[in-house]
Amino acid sequence: MDKQFGMYGLPLDVKYCKKCTLSNQRPSSSVAFKNKQDEVKRPVFFGDDGICEACRWSEKKKNIDWETRHQELVKLCDKFRRSDGRYDVLVPGSGGKDSVRAAYEMKYMYNMNPLLVTWPPQLLTEMGRKNMESWLDAGFACYTITPNQKLHKLLSRLSFENLCHPFQPFTLGQNHAPMYLSTLLDIPLVMYGENGAEYGNNIKYNEKPTRDESYYSSNTGLEDIFLGGVSAKEIIDKYGFSLADLKPYLPVNPYDLNRTGTELHFLGYYLKWHPMEEYYFSVENTNFMPNDFRTEGSYSKYSSIDDKFDWLNHYTLHIKYGLGRATYDSAQEVRNGEITREEGVALIKRFDGELPKIYLNDCLEYMGLSEERFNEIIEAHRTPHLWSKESGTWKLIKPIWDEDNEG
Ligand SMILES: [Zn+2]
Repeated sequence: MDKQFGMYGLPLDVKYCKKCTLSNQRPSSSVAFKNKQDEVKRPVFFGDDGICEACRWSEKKKNIDWETRHQELVKLCDKFRRSDGRYDVLVPGSGGKDSVRAAYEMKYMYNMNPLLVTWPPQLLTEMGRKNMESWLDAGFACYTITPNQKLHKLLSRLSFENLCHPFQPFTLGQNHAPMYLSTLLDIPLVMYGENGAEYGNNIKYNEKPTRDESYYSSNTGLEDIFLGGVSAKEIIDKYGFSLADLKPYLPVNPYDLNRTGTELHFLGYYLKWHPMEEYYFSVENTNFMPNDFRTEGSYSKYSSIDDKFDWLNHYTLHIKYGLGRATYDSAQEVRNGEITREEGVALIKRFDGELPKIYLNDCLEYMGLSEERFNEIIEAHRTPHLWSKESGTWKLIKPIWDEDNEG
């Protein structure tokens, strides 16, 4: 049999996009609560011209008529706006630059009455705390859902051990908790900022303002919902947690969503979204601050800086897919014309895959893991077709900078 796909279902033949710095090893976002060990992922699609789906989407976006989209948003807000003083839209976030803009637009540009909802970072950074405070100072109320920390720590450890995905408990709550709150508080409109999965997913999902319900809703039994690679039933039976403890991590029952009439929309569909402009917007309109030091593993200072686990998360992506934080940052900036592809490649060569020393011990302590166990887990998830060991050091077999030399 012709073997074309290796670990995680990734193509064995590594290719880099001709336009940006992404490789064909990047998986599309999958349904988080179905993620088990040995899951086969759908990698980003490359056309015959060697250009990735994310770049294709980025080009397509240039032809969007933003005035029409703005009108659609006005209509949407008119449908959900309340005149009796109650909150009429939930804006999930934690003071990062995307959620700052989403909340600000809803309240001050579209005359809505937003309530912020925060699923807190696993380990908040000092900068994250400051930005959260600035967000609230800009004139918003916020409901914070703080999960049972004993459970949260357990799920972080299981996610890391079983999936090499220590960030999963955050992702699960970020996807599900605001939807759950929508049904509890009877606030049907939930407005996220940019669709984080927009770049690298099948383009057809980006042509609509809403997220497919399969990502956050399900009525399957607890034995078929997976948290940290373990069924929700087992978490309850084996570790002694209650269903109520698990609730914010679980997909929401479609019946409850129907009753409230919950709709999840992305503001990024209606308004032109641009990471660097979101950053300037946040600085201008709230007291959002970038980090005062370079992000380890990349060269940036302003994106994903509120959770200490962000660093570890990007490190694991480099181990599993060969794509570190500098790759993700540069791919986006090349596409937006802020840096050239050559500059991107040089930045990747210099920074990608750097061990996140600054917060690593905090994360390990949080999960209750030793450094030795950390190394074991990392090595168990290192993708064989991407890595080879040379004089005791792991090296990428086909890094982007070598490919360029081949011409
Ligand atoms: Zn590309």
